[in-house]
Formats: sequence, structure tokens, C-alpha cells
Amino acid sequence: MSIWRARFAPAGGNVVLTDTQLLRYSRQIMLPDLDVAGQERLLQARVLIVGLGGLGCPAALYLAAAGVGSLVLADGDVVELSNLQRQIAHGEADLGLAKVTSAANSIAALNRETVVKTLAQRLDYEELLRELAQIDLVVDASDSFATRFAVNRACVETAVPLVSGAAIRSEGHVAVFNPSAGGPCYRCLYNDAAGDEELSCSQSGVLAPMVGVIGSLQALEAVKLLAGFGEPIVGSMLVVDGWSLQVRRVKLKRDPQCPVCGSR
Ligand SMILES: [Zn+2]
Repeated sequence: MSIWRARFAPAGGNVVLTDTQLLRYSRQIMLPDLDVAGQERLLQARVLIVGLGGLGCPAALYLAAAGVGSLVLADGDVVELSNLQRQIAHGEADLGLAKVTSAANSIAALNRETVVKTLAQRLDYEELLRELAQIDLVVDASDSFATRFAVNRACVETAVPLVSGAAIRSEGHVAVFNPSAGGPCYRCLYNDAAGDEELSCSQSGVLAPMVGVIGSLQALEAVKLLAGFGEPIVGSMLVVDGWSLQVRRVKLKRDPQCPVCGSR
């Protein structure tokens, strides 16, 4: 049974695609593994994107373009000039606007059928838990360990799959966690000291297309999980070195002492 079927199989009937939708999504529907059924699953899916920066922008745009039905966008920041080098859902006219509003406008221009909810704030753990009750999958595109730890804890608690990404300088990585299938969680990889070594794009810099690569890979993994096809890298991390374009896939180990998933 696929991950989608294990978690997302709807209780009742499916949505029925209109002729316009069949044409719009035809290049995906013609993929035998995705087909009409996979597209219907995408249209019913609800995804929370945490962070509408360099990773969240391409992830949100690709998920909307691919036909994911509902997106919840969470980010407390406003658009600044230094964001425009890589955060491609925001433009010059959006300077000073909340990032979630700017991103919602870009999504509406791309696909007006996508239902978008905006949360112009950094969600704390309790707020995350409330949102996850209505969510099928989380894309973590945030830029702080505190947020990543809270998102991971809420995903483990609610058994919601998590597609995590990060990019700095000319490197990036993507990891997928599915608590309901066992395996490691994000917290198994990093201890509390990680916050002390936090690197940010504002301090270390980042190559513009690097966040595009990683954010797009996050969207790809999300689409596979939601539509129920392919082989999502659950329990693994893909490490991309943009300088040499070498890609490594690392199997992640579960930490039996992990304070988040260790007792499960
Ligand atoms: Zn863990």
C-alpha cells in the first residue's frame, strides 16, 4: 500500500475532473503512474508551506501549478529588496508586503483554482498542531532550527508527512520524514546545540538557483507522496553540492533516544 493510500485515501467519492482540468493537467495525467486518479488526489490535497522565502516560493508555485488543491502559507516576514535575488514569488511591486500575501497573489495569477489560506505569522507549536488537523503534508521551507524543531514535533505528534529542505551558499539538502511509516524524524539528526551553529542566508549568502533546485525537489517529493506514485526518499536525505553538482543520497538513522520520536 502506498503512503498516500495509507494516510490520504478519501472516505467517500473522488472529485471528478472537468474538461478544462483534464486539458490543464494533461501532461501529468498522461504519466501512467499518475493518471487521472493521481491528479484527483492532488486536487483534494491540503499542504502547509512553512516559510515563503527562497525554498517556499518555488515549492508553492510548483505545487499550485501541479494542481494541489489547497495551500496554507505561513510566514511572518515582509518582502525586502535583498529577498528578490532568489524568492521568485515576490517582485518589486511587493516590497513591504507580507510574504504570504505576495505569494498568494502570485499563486492566484498562476492557478486561480488553488485555495490559499495565509497566516502572516511564525507559527508556534500549538498553532502548528491546530493547522495540521486539516493538513495532509507539510513542506518545511523555514530558516531557523527553532521553527524546524517545532514543525517536526507537530508532524510526529499528528503523523503528518514532512518534506524538509535547506540551502546555504552553494549547497542544499532535502529529506522526507513519514512518522506513520516509522523511521527517523528531523530531531533524530540534530540535537539542541544545532541552534547555536545556525547558518542563515543573510550571514553566509546563497546562490539564487540553489534554493530553486532544493525548493523544486521539495515540491517533487510532495507531489509523489500526495499522488501516491514514484519512490519518495522517506528516511533519506539528498545532499546537493551546487559547486561540483555532485549529489549524494544518505540513509538516515533513527535515534532510539530521540526526545521527539524515541518513545514511539
Ligand atoms: Zn526522532
